[in-house]
Amino acid sequence: MHIPFVDLRAQFENHKDEITSAITSVIEQTAFIRGPYVKKFEEEFARVYGSKHCIGVANGTDALFIVMKMLGIGPGDEVITTAHSWISTSETISQTGATPIFVEVDDYYTIDTSLIEKHITSRTKAILPVHLYGQMAEVDIIKSICDRYGLFLIEDCAQAHFSEYKGKRAGRWGIASTFSFFPGKNLGAYGDAGCIITDHDELALKCRMFANHGSLVKHQHQIEGINSRLDGLQAAILSVKLKYIIEWTKLRNEKAKIYNKLLMGSPSIQTPIVRKNSVHSFHLYVIQLKNRDLVKDLLLKEGIETYIHYPTPLPLLPAYNRLKLNKNNYIKSLTNSKQILSLPLYPEISNDQINYVVDTLKLHENSYKSF
Ligand SMILES: *Cc1c(COP(=O)(O)O)cnc(C)c1O
Repeated sequence: MHIPFVDLRAQFENHKDEITSAITSVIEQTAFIRGPYVKKFEEEFARVYGSKHCIGVANGTDALFIVMKMLGIGPGDEVITTAHSWISTSETISQTGATPIFVEVDDYYTIDTSLIEKHITSRTKAILPVHLYGQMAEVDIIKSICDRYGLFLIEDCAQAHFSEYKGKRAGRWGIASTFSFFPGKNLGAYGDAGCIITDHDELALKCRMFANHGSLVKHQHQIEGINSRLDGLQAAILSVKLKYIIEWTKLRNEKAKIYNKLLMGSPSIQTPIVRKNSVHSFHLYVIQLKNRDLVKDLLLKEGIETYIHYPTPLPLLPAYNRLKLNKNNYIKSLTNSKQILSLPLYPEISNDQINYVVDTLKLHENSYKSF
């Protein structure tokens, strides 16, 4: 049996007519850049999130950069973020000219809120938590810290479409939030895409301008900007997919439960723990086990694709050698990075496929029993 890590083809087959007709409409109307499909998706996304504004941009990385830049974050400033994420989170802080300040993670792979305050200095401008794997950070606590110190709260929701904590969705807690629609994300385009949501009128206007060469009206450049737009084809595809995202999130949770049940009682495998009062969106189903690399190879030999998100904590990447960070402050992230393994999980995965993954894992239990 071959089990791909994600199966975007299966998703397409289930909605083929709708998606191809959306693509055809965009081409027939040559609505490639800006235009009605982008406007429609932005309005739909803002509506389902109950946010005042949604600004489509070229990708989730740009979304982060644009928000921080338009909040005035720049050289001399510091932004506090998690030690464990995809590099977009921290590289965009550096792109503004500011310095990323990395904080160790808690038991849920999200920023350890008990360690945040000791990292705040007079240069701190914002806190940027990441709701990793679909699990939200303790964003209520982060918000209260931000309020107390007068810092911006920006949520990186690239992996947390429709996740919730204490009855409120990821993306609704801070001044602005960013989403990625990279194909493999829970809501994925057929290429790069992303967006920003915010209730702040002035910030929304600035972000929209900056993302479009500093102009709202053609040739009237109020400022210098960049070229980072959501394109019409991606927007039309996203509008179709948006209709199914709640259903897909439910399915992801159901499939995760099946994994949990089958892996329960296996002393050598640690299954993901879900935070109380939260709705996980299971962008990734991440287990921990010893001899991870060996197991990964064994699974691949049996046709099962797995990934590691991520093999090196951000502060320990060569890209941050210049910051001369102390490894000992990131022991937990480092230990995690050696033991984590993301198993195939998507709405279309069958119970037989899940059974096969678990059976194969158990078949090789002797090679990682030492947990
Ligand atoms: C995917 C991702 C991004 C960046 O999104 P792109 O659309 O790929 O640029 C940012 N942060 C996190 C946590 C991500 O997983």
